[in-house]
Amino acid sequence: MRYDVAIVGGGASGLSCALTLASSKGRGWEWAEGRRYILFDTGRSDLHRAYLKNVPGIEPMTGVELLQNIRRQIEDWGGVDFVEEEVLKVERRGELFELETVQGRLFEAEYVVLASGFHRFDIKGIEVQVIDNPKSPKPGRVMIRHEDYQVEKNLFVVGTLAGLSSHFTSCAGSGVEVAAVILSRMAGKPVVIHDVPPED
Ligand SMILES: Cc1cc2nc3c(=O)[nH]c(=O)nc-3n(C[C@H](O)[C@H](O)[C@H](O)COP(=O)(O)OP(=O)(O)OC[C@H]3O[C@@H](n4cnc5c(N)ncnc54)[C@H](O)[C@@H]3O)c2cc1C
Repeated sequence: MRYDVAIVGGGASGLSCALTLASSKGRGWEWAEGRRYILFDTGRSDLHRAYLKNVPGIEPMTGVELLQNIRRQIEDWGGVDFVEEEVLKVERRGELFELETVQGRLFEAEYVVLASGFHRFDIKGIEVQVIDNPKSPKPGRVMIRHEDYQVEKNLFVVGTLAGLSSHFTSCAGSGVEVAAVILSRMAGKPVVIHDVPPED
């Protein structure tokens, strides 16, 4: 199956990326219609262990509740397929990437966003530089070298794996930022997505 964007990891950064991508539809933008997005996740986000009292504008809640809320927001927009399988391999095939899951299923995408967290990186098939994560207070955490989140053409890294400090807002922000970059490339001009209150 072929997708426009494949996101590997469904925690703070990956879900936030998917939400911004999904929210580009239904606005009368021809370039955004018919786009297909896919998100792979193994369900081990650090948010599962968090109770959040310092996310700006959000009442205190568990990380699990926050993940569920973002997932609901994405489903309200639609257009994102969720696959609860580990991605083992990402390989470039010309202008596309091929992703292989633990169950041997294959998917193609034009863009790939790596959002799999800083605990380890062992996805095969792509040449990335994995280095120690300088922002983690705990040893053994990793990040991937990048320039403005881009690792190579159409391959991005976000969240703690991009070396951001381990806070929900930092990681979510990087997912949104990369989504805006990808949408802008699709549109061929700068894109931001702003909604306004409905009229009475
Ligand atoms: C105990 C604890 C308390 C915290 N408290 C706070 C707090 O109060 N405030 C705050 O702002 N932040 C807090 N955080 C930090 C916050 O949870 C992280 O900063 C955030 O979750 C990092 O987002 P991420 O997207 O980089 O990674 P994650 O949210 O960890 O998501 C990575 C996802 O990728 C998936 N994945 C990994 N490999 C693959 C693969 N090969 N294929 C498919 N999926 C894969 C994982 O299963 C996971 O779901 C806390 C964290 C912990 C552990």
